Amino acid sequence: MLRLFLCTASLFLSVFAHAQQWDFTLHKHKSAEPGPTLLVIGGIQGDEPGGFNAASLLITDYVIQRGEVWVVPNLNFESIIKRSRGVHGDMNRKFKGIRQNDPEFQLVEKIKSIIKDKQVDIILNLHDGSGFYRPKYVDKLHGPQRWGQSLIIDQAQLAGVTYGRLDTIASVITQQANLRIKNKEHRYHIKNTQTRRGNVEMEKTLTYYAIQNGKAAFGIEASKSFGTHYRAYYHLQMIESFMQYLGIEFERDLELNINNVKNRIDNNIKLALYEKKMFFDMRNVRDRLRYVPMKKGEPINFSASNPLIAVLDNKRYYNVRYGNRSVTKLLPQYFDFDSSLDSISLLVDGVKKEVKLGDIVSVDKRFVVNRLDGYRVNIIGYTKKGYKSEHGLPISHRDIKPKFSIDKQGKLFRVEIYKQNQFCGMVLVDFSDQPVAAAKATKVNPIF
Ligand SMILES: [Zn+2]
Repeated sequence: MLRLFLCTASLFLSVFAHAQQWDFTLHKHKSAEPGPTLLVIGGIQGDEPGGFNAASLLITDYVIQRGEVWVVPNLNFESIIKRSRGVHGDMNRKFKGIRQNDPEFQLVEKIKSIIKDKQVDIILNLHDGSGFYRPKYVDKLHGPQRWGQSLIIDQAQLAGVTYGRLDTIASVITQQANLRIKNKEHRYHIKNTQTRRGNVEMEKTLTYYAIQNGKAAFGIEASKSFGTHYRAYYHLQMIESFMQYLGIEFERDLELNINNVKNRIDNNIKLALYEKKMFFDMRNVRDRLRYVPMKKGEPINFSASNPLIAVLDNKRYYNVRYGNRSVTKLLPQYFDFDSSLDSISLLVDGVKKEVKLGDIVSVDKRFVVNRLDGYRVNIIGYTKKGYKSEHGLPISHRDIKPKFSIDKQGKLFRVEIYKQNQFCGMVLVDFSDQPVAAAKATKVNPIF
């Protein structure tokens, strides 16, 4: 597939100045062709990973060619990271009224203003719900009391709005999506909550707030009976059905199937620190990484390959979290940083390469860090007596002690550069057969 604006330099999409500021992010997929604008929201409840992982994939793996898709993947980011439905109560019950002193007041006000944005035509709120919704009782897991595999509307119609025929749209979408779903149990059903007729719980929700503000809105529920990647896969199926219905044209990097979705969710965990002078591919990362150079007296500064990654300051170490998952701990060693160097020269399997600090380089047999006057090269896990700086030495995989690798397989190693006592940056060398360097790159503009 042709992707025009990709380059490895723009690998990272979300920059958090301060790790513990629990703001959500809005990512706007724009396109050259005018068309409708779809707003997709994930993570209103922190324990529904199917929804927020699908939203994240929509950001990292899709390109929109007609119309626009706006995505908020992490609305309740604090609850996502802390693996809670709602650290401060259920956010999806705060849209009818919210106290000014509610810790989520600002977040709720902000998403309200995005919902009301003139450009937004239609809104999808992604959920993971229990069991399988059916209009009539079948058994404990299948019936009107359940939510999974349903498309939710608050009422049949919303007068005077372009996409106001909610029930008609819902039946077109579910029919389309169900054509692609072989297993009957997994097929979608429409659930009309009849909110206006005295459904006091649903009156407090995001979608009903949207409806009352003249915006067509739907809730999509994937079943909690499935694993995360299955739920995310079904969410993407439904989102694509909506895009097709709306005439929003798109391309994606991956063929949409369960394995690819799982692979992307599990492996797209990349973190860059300090203006990308340091980069970690955290696929199969060890439980802790020791002696990670950190800036003295400054808050940690990072960017990540997807919007569900957070780095939490735990005083003695940093916790890297990814959605509901714990990734690793970074144990810091504090330095002053030197910014006089942007790249280093390597001989990789006999080929000379200029490698930017913060980059990763794939090595088959051996590499040499070329002579670097005034700087010290430290290959973590490698020592040779009499060498203060480890440049000019041919180094193969077996020369480095595997326990110093970043990954559990013992294939990915750090080459660190120092100027006197100051840290300049890091390059990763990758001895694996399936190099991680082929990372997907996406240009995204977080607007907050
Ligand atoms: Zn939910």
